[in-house]
Amino acid sequence: MSDRYCIRGCTVRGEHYAACPHSEQDYSGPTVCMGCVQVEARDAVLLCESCYRRLRRHLEDAADLVGHLRSIADPTKAAAYDRVRVQSSSIEIPAPVAADLIDASNDITTTLNMWANHVAGEDRPGAGLPAGVMADAAHHIVQLAVDVILEDLDALANDSHQIGALCDGVVVVNGGAPEVWTVADAAVRWPLEDSPRWAHAACPKCDLMAVRVQPGRNGRPARYRCSTEGCDWEANSNDDGGLWASVFAEPAPAEVRPHDPRWLTLVDAARLVERTTGTVRRWVQQNLLEPQLGRYWQDDVLAVAALKKGEAA
Ligand SMILES: [Zn+2]
Ligand SMILES: [Zn+2]
Ligand SMILES: [Zn+2]
Repeated sequence: MSDRYCIRGCTVRGEHYAACPHSEQDYSGPTVCMGCVQVEARDAVLLCESCYRRLRRHLEDAADLVGHLRSIADPTKAAAYDRVRVQSSSIEIPAPVAADLIDASNDITTTLNMWANHVAGEDRPGAGLPAGVMADAAHHIVQLAVDVILEDLDALANDSHQIGALCDGVVVVNGGAPEVWTVADAAVRWPLEDSPRWAHAACPKCDLMAVRVQPGRNGRPARYRCSTEGCDWEANSNDDGGLWASVFAEPAPAEVRPHDPRWLTLVDAARLVERTTGTVRRWVQQNLLEPQLGRYWQDDVLAVAALKKGEAA
């Protein structure tokens, strides 16, 4: 058994060492300990499983996120500077660009380029984004850096001189408009639309039916993440020997029993949640819903409707 603990000081909620003077049961003063038993590190790295997986996820998402920030920052990029308009006497000024978006995309790029340089053995500052860069070009720049970092992630995560700083630059949520934006800061403020589906099995940690499945993309494995408040469980389809890929696999089409009344037609699905058939079809296009042989699973339809209601609220 490894006796190495997560270098970020993670502890198990509600579990205390015998010597803990501030556990909930024996202590009623102002500094209650919520749990002091340290979480063991993942094999061969200095982070616990949950910190490691979160770091990896934010790195994997960084390029999409920066592309996303660039496209919200300047949706008119493609057409804003045509010559006719610039020559006219009343120059139309493009919609004001949120400085936070520019700062965030630039900070993330600078941080990741710096780490990519470091991994490549060159310790020099990372370049930011060129001014006015297009979203896809920004995505490309960040993806190049991320691929280099991910390739070396386990070595970095096993290096006590590096891993704290990498986590500080990527997974720490500073909140608000921080001095330097991390990937996690930006992901909180401008979340990516992941369009995941609900898993058909419970979360292994909190036991609730709250796991969201995001299909793999760009050669990345599929991802499973619990949406229960306070439960930080996540994994991808390669973790733990591929266990989760089978636990959260789609029910095979062969299991579709057309006579099961819970498999709804498009019209019935729309009627169930009081939406138009057009809306339900849009959910399919957004990969929120996946029909099997033209039928829609009732629980999935209800879950997506609840999700959309939550978004609109
Ligand atoms: Zn304690
Ligand atoms: Zn940890
Ligand atoms: Zn959970």
